[in-house]
Amino acid sequence: KANRKFHPEDTVVSVGNAKIGGGNFSVIAGPCSVESEEQICAVAEDVKRSGAALLRGGAFKPRTSPYSFQGMGASGLDLLMEAREKTGLPIVTEIMDPRMADLFEREVDVVQVGARNMQNFELLKEVGKMSKPILLKRGLSNTYEEWIMSAEYIMSEGNENVILCERGVRTFETYTRNTLDVSAIPAIKQMSHLPIIVDPSHAAGMYWMVEPLAMAAVAAGADGLIIEVHNDPAHAKCDGQQSLTPEKFDHLMGKVSALVDLV
Ligand code: PEP
Ligand code: MN
Repeated sequence: KANRKFHPEDTVVSVGNAKIGGGNFSVIAGPCSVESEEQICAVAEDVKRSGAALLRGGAFKPRTSPYSFQGMGASGLDLLMEAREKTGLPIVTEIMDPRMADLFEREVDVVQVGARNMQNFELLKEVGKMSKPILLKRGLSNTYEEWIMSAEYIMSEGNENVILCERGVRTFETYTRNTLDVSAIPAIKQMSHLPIIVDPSHAAGMYWMVEPLAMAAVAAGADGLIIEVHNDPAHAKCDGQQSLTPEKFDHLMGKVSALVDLV
Protein backbone atom coordinates (compact mmCIF):
# COMPACT_ATOMS: atom_id res chain seq x y z
CA LYS A 1 0.00 0.00 0.00
CA ALA A 2 2.92 2.37 0.63
CA ASN A 3 4.65 1.40 -2.64
CA ARG A 4 4.76 4.02 -5.40
CA LYS A 5 4.48 1.24 -8.02
CA PHE A 6 0.89 0.47 -7.11
CA HIS A 7 -0.14 4.05 -6.31
CA PRO A 8 1.63 6.54 -8.59
CA GLU A 9 -0.06 9.73 -7.30
CA ASP A 10 1.31 11.50 -4.20
CA THR A 11 -0.73 11.04 -1.05
CA VAL A 12 -1.92 14.36 0.40
CA VAL A 13 -2.63 14.30 4.14
CA SER A 14 -5.12 16.96 5.28
CA VAL A 15 -5.32 18.14 8.88
CA GLY A 16 -7.70 21.02 9.47
CA ASN A 17 -6.66 23.66 6.95
CA ALA A 18 -3.17 22.20 6.58
CA LYS A 19 -2.12 19.89 3.76
CA ILE A 20 1.08 17.84 3.60
CA GLY A 21 2.25 16.17 0.39
CA GLY A 22 1.56 16.50 -3.32
CA GLY A 23 3.29 19.87 -3.54
CA ASN A 24 1.74 21.24 -0.32
CA PHE A 25 4.28 22.35 2.28
CA SER A 26 3.48 22.68 6.00
CA VAL A 27 5.52 23.40 9.09
CA ILE A 28 4.88 21.80 12.49
CA ALA A 29 6.45 23.71 15.41
CA GLY A 30 6.43 23.77 19.17
CA PRO A 31 8.35 22.64 22.22
CA CYS A 32 9.85 19.21 22.73
CA SER A 33 7.60 18.81 25.78
CA VAL A 34 4.53 20.54 27.12
CA GLU A 35 5.66 22.08 30.44
CA SER A 36 2.92 24.49 31.52
CA GLU A 37 -0.14 26.35 30.29
CA GLU A 38 1.83 29.59 29.91
CA GLN A 39 4.61 27.87 27.97
CA ILE A 40 2.50 25.95 25.44
CA CYS A 41 0.01 28.77 24.84
CA ALA A 42 2.76 31.38 24.39
CA VAL A 43 4.74 29.17 21.98
CA ALA A 44 1.56 28.27 20.08
CA GLU A 45 0.70 31.96 19.51
CA ASP A 46 4.28 32.72 18.46
CA VAL A 47 4.68 29.87 15.96
CA LYS A 48 1.27 30.56 14.49
CA ARG A 49 2.20 34.21 13.90
CA SER A 50 5.34 33.02 12.07
CA GLY A 51 3.34 30.73 9.79
CA ALA A 52 3.40 27.28 11.40
CA ALA A 53 0.34 25.23 10.40
CA LEU A 54 0.42 22.71 13.27
CA LEU A 55 1.54 22.71 16.91
CA ARG A 56 3.81 20.01 18.33
CA GLY A 57 4.45 19.19 21.99
CA GLY A 58 5.25 15.96 23.81
CA ALA A 59 3.05 14.86 26.72
CA PHE A 60 4.36 11.27 26.99
CA LYS A 61 8.11 11.41 26.41
CA PRO A 62 10.45 8.55 25.43
CA ARG A 63 13.48 9.48 27.58
CA THR A 64 16.75 7.57 27.62
CA SER A 65 16.96 7.76 31.43
CA PRO A 66 14.02 6.77 33.63
CA TYR A 67 15.09 9.59 35.98
CA SER A 68 14.65 12.32 33.33
CA PHE A 69 11.40 14.31 32.99
CA GLN A 70 8.88 11.91 31.45
CA GLY A 71 6.37 14.51 30.25
CA MET A 72 3.15 15.77 31.82
CA GLY A 73 1.09 12.83 30.56
CA ALA A 74 -2.67 13.25 30.14
CA SER A 75 -2.61 16.75 31.67
CA GLY A 76 -0.17 17.71 28.89
CA LEU A 77 -2.80 16.64 26.34
CA ASP A 78 -5.33 18.91 28.10
CA LEU A 79 -2.94 21.86 27.73
CA LEU A 80 -2.37 21.05 24.05
CA MET A 81 -6.14 21.06 23.52
CA GLU A 82 -6.34 24.43 25.24
CA ALA A 83 -3.60 25.81 22.96
CA ARG A 84 -5.52 24.42 19.95
CA GLU A 85 -8.68 26.13 21.20
CA LYS A 86 -6.83 29.46 21.48
CA THR A 87 -4.95 29.36 18.17
CA GLY A 88 -6.87 26.97 15.92
CA LEU A 89 -3.65 25.03 15.28
CA PRO A 90 -4.12 21.24 15.07
CA ILE A 91 -1.97 19.35 17.60
CA VAL A 92 0.72 16.72 17.01
CA THR A 93 1.92 14.57 19.91
CA GLU A 94 3.61 11.22 20.51
CA ILE A 95 1.90 7.99 21.52
CA MET A 96 4.03 5.33 23.23
CA ASP A 97 1.46 2.83 24.47
CA PRO A 98 -1.22 1.04 22.39
CA ARG A 99 -3.54 1.27 25.45
CA MET A 100 -3.63 5.06 24.90
CA ALA A 101 -5.19 4.77 21.44
CA ASP A 102 -8.73 5.75 22.52
CA LEU A 103 -7.49 8.81 24.41
CA PHE A 104 -5.38 9.96 21.44
CA GLU A 105 -8.23 9.26 19.01
CA ARG A 106 -10.45 11.63 21.01
CA GLU A 107 -7.99 14.41 21.74
CA VAL A 108 -5.17 14.57 19.18
CA ASP A 109 -5.12 15.65 15.49
CA VAL A 110 -1.90 13.93 14.33
CA VAL A 111 -0.50 10.96 16.25
CA GLN A 112 3.29 10.75 16.31
CA VAL A 113 5.10 7.42 16.51
CA GLY A 114 8.62 8.21 17.70
CA ALA A 115 11.91 6.95 16.32
CA ARG A 116 12.34 4.51 19.21
CA ASN A 117 8.98 2.90 18.46
CA MET A 118 9.28 2.69 14.67
CA GLN A 119 9.35 -1.09 14.89
CA ASN A 120 6.97 -1.50 17.82
CA PHE A 121 4.67 -3.59 15.67
CA GLU A 122 1.81 -3.86 18.17
CA LEU A 123 1.76 -0.06 18.48
CA LEU A 124 1.85 0.29 14.67
CA LYS A 125 -1.12 -2.07 14.28
CA GLU A 126 -3.08 -0.17 16.93
CA VAL A 127 -2.51 3.28 15.36
CA GLY A 128 -3.41 1.66 12.04
CA LYS A 129 -6.96 1.31 13.39
CA MET A 130 -7.19 5.01 14.25
CA SER A 131 -8.86 7.63 12.05
CA LYS A 132 -6.16 10.26 12.71
CA PRO A 133 -3.09 10.81 10.48
CA ILE A 134 0.09 9.16 11.79
CA LEU A 135 3.48 10.88 11.79
CA LEU A 136 5.97 7.99 11.58
CA LYS A 137 9.52 8.95 12.50
CA ARG A 138 12.43 6.97 11.11
CA GLY A 139 14.19 4.73 13.63
CA LEU A 140 17.68 5.68 14.76
CA SER A 141 19.29 2.90 12.69
CA ASN A 142 16.63 1.79 10.23
CA THR A 143 16.79 1.46 6.47
CA TYR A 144 14.30 3.04 4.05
CA GLU A 145 12.87 -0.41 3.38
CA GLU A 146 12.30 -1.12 7.10
CA TRP A 147 10.74 2.34 7.55
CA ILE A 148 8.35 1.84 4.64
CA MET A 149 7.42 -1.61 5.97
CA SER A 150 6.50 0.04 9.27
CA ALA A 151 4.23 2.42 7.34
CA GLU A 152 2.82 -0.69 5.69
CA TYR A 153 1.90 -2.11 9.14
CA ILE A 154 -0.18 1.02 9.80
CA MET A 155 -1.74 1.09 6.34
CA SER A 156 -2.55 -2.62 6.33
CA GLU A 157 -4.92 -1.98 9.27
CA GLY A 158 -6.81 0.61 7.20
CA ASN A 159 -5.16 3.93 8.09
CA GLU A 160 -3.57 5.20 4.89
CA ASN A 161 -2.82 8.72 6.18
CA VAL A 162 0.83 8.26 7.06
CA ILE A 163 3.44 11.03 7.01
CA LEU A 164 7.07 9.89 7.14
CA CYS A 165 9.63 11.94 9.09
CA GLU A 166 13.40 11.83 8.62
CA ARG A 167 14.99 12.90 11.93
CA GLY A 168 18.62 11.90 11.50
CA VAL A 169 20.25 8.52 11.95
CA ARG A 170 23.08 7.22 14.11
CA THR A 171 26.49 7.27 12.40
CA PHE A 172 30.16 7.31 13.50
CA GLU A 173 29.95 11.10 13.81
CA THR A 174 29.42 12.35 17.35
CA TYR A 175 29.62 16.12 16.76
CA THR A 176 25.96 16.25 15.81
CA ARG A 177 23.27 14.41 17.80
CA ASN A 178 22.41 12.41 14.66
CA THR A 179 23.29 12.69 10.98
CA LEU A 180 20.53 14.14 8.82
CA ASP A 181 20.06 11.81 5.88
CA VAL A 182 19.06 14.21 3.10
CA SER A 183 19.11 11.31 0.62
CA ALA A 184 16.04 9.93 2.37
CA ILE A 185 13.89 12.63 0.75
CA PRO A 186 14.43 11.77 -2.94
CA ALA A 187 14.78 8.06 -2.12
CA ILE A 188 11.46 7.86 -0.27
CA LYS A 189 9.76 9.88 -3.01
CA GLN A 190 10.99 7.33 -5.51
CA MET A 191 9.89 4.34 -3.42
CA SER A 192 6.63 5.64 -1.96
CA HIS A 193 3.76 8.07 -2.56
CA LEU A 194 3.64 9.02 1.12
CA PRO A 195 4.64 12.56 2.16
CA ILE A 196 8.02 12.99 3.85
CA ILE A 197 8.87 15.78 6.27
CA VAL A 198 12.16 16.52 8.04
CA ASP A 199 13.04 17.15 11.69
CA PRO A 200 16.31 19.12 11.66
CA SER A 201 16.10 19.72 15.44
CA HIS A 202 16.68 16.11 16.52
CA ALA A 203 19.17 15.58 13.66
CA ALA A 204 21.37 18.53 14.65
CA GLY A 205 20.95 18.56 18.41
CA MET A 206 22.16 22.19 18.32
CA TYR A 207 19.90 25.19 17.71
CA TRP A 208 22.30 27.01 15.38
CA MET A 209 22.38 24.14 12.92
CA VAL A 210 18.58 23.84 12.59
CA GLU A 211 18.11 26.55 9.97
CA PRO A 212 20.78 25.35 7.47
CA LEU A 213 19.50 21.75 7.76
CA ALA A 214 15.92 22.95 7.28
CA MET A 215 17.01 24.77 4.11
CA ALA A 216 18.75 21.61 2.83
CA ALA A 217 15.57 19.61 3.44
CA VAL A 218 13.41 22.10 1.55
CA ALA A 219 15.89 22.23 -1.34
CA ALA A 220 15.81 18.43 -1.53
CA GLY A 221 12.02 18.43 -1.86
CA ALA A 222 10.68 17.75 1.66
CA ASP A 223 6.91 18.16 2.09
CA GLY A 224 7.29 19.89 5.43
CA LEU A 225 9.34 20.44 8.56
CA ILE A 226 8.93 19.76 12.26
CA ILE A 227 10.89 22.20 14.40
CA GLU A 228 11.39 22.48 18.16
CA VAL A 229 10.63 26.00 19.47
CA HIS A 230 10.74 27.07 23.13
CA ASN A 231 10.10 30.46 24.73
CA ASP A 232 12.97 29.90 27.21
CA PRO A 233 15.37 27.28 25.76
CA ALA A 234 17.90 27.68 28.58
CA HIS A 235 15.34 26.40 31.09
CA ALA A 236 13.56 23.84 28.88
CA LYS A 237 12.87 20.50 30.59
CA CYS A 238 13.85 18.65 27.43
CA ASP A 239 16.01 19.40 24.36
CA GLY A 240 16.64 23.08 25.15
CA GLN A 241 20.01 23.05 23.37
CA GLN A 242 18.34 22.24 20.03
CA SER A 243 15.28 24.48 20.50
CA LEU A 244 14.86 27.75 18.60
CA THR A 245 13.56 30.87 20.29
CA PRO A 246 10.37 32.22 18.66
CA GLU A 247 12.55 34.98 17.12
CA LYS A 248 14.94 32.49 15.52
CA PHE A 249 11.99 30.41 14.32
CA ASP A 250 10.48 33.48 12.70
CA HIS A 251 13.78 34.08 10.88
CA LEU A 252 13.86 30.46 9.70
CA MET A 253 10.29 30.71 8.42
CA GLY A 254 11.18 33.77 6.35
CA LYS A 255 14.06 31.93 4.68
CA VAL A 256 12.11 28.69 4.26
CA SER A 257 9.08 30.31 2.61
CA ALA A 258 11.30 32.11 0.11
CA LEU A 259 12.96 28.81 -0.78
CA VAL A 260 9.67 26.87 -0.94
CA ASP A 261 8.53 29.29 -3.66
CA LEU A 262 11.66 28.45 -5.67
CA VAL A 263 11.56 24.64 -5.50
C1 PEP B 1 10.34 14.19 19.52
O1 PEP B 1 9.89 14.52 18.41
O2 PEP B 1 10.20 14.86 20.55
C2 PEP B 1 11.14 12.95 19.62
C3 PEP B 1 11.29 12.31 20.79
O3 PEP B 1 11.69 12.59 18.46
P1 PEP B 1 12.39 11.21 18.00
O4 PEP B 1 11.39 10.13 18.23
O5 PEP B 1 12.69 11.46 16.56
O6 PEP B 1 13.63 11.07 18.84
MN1 MN C 1 12.77 16.58 21.47
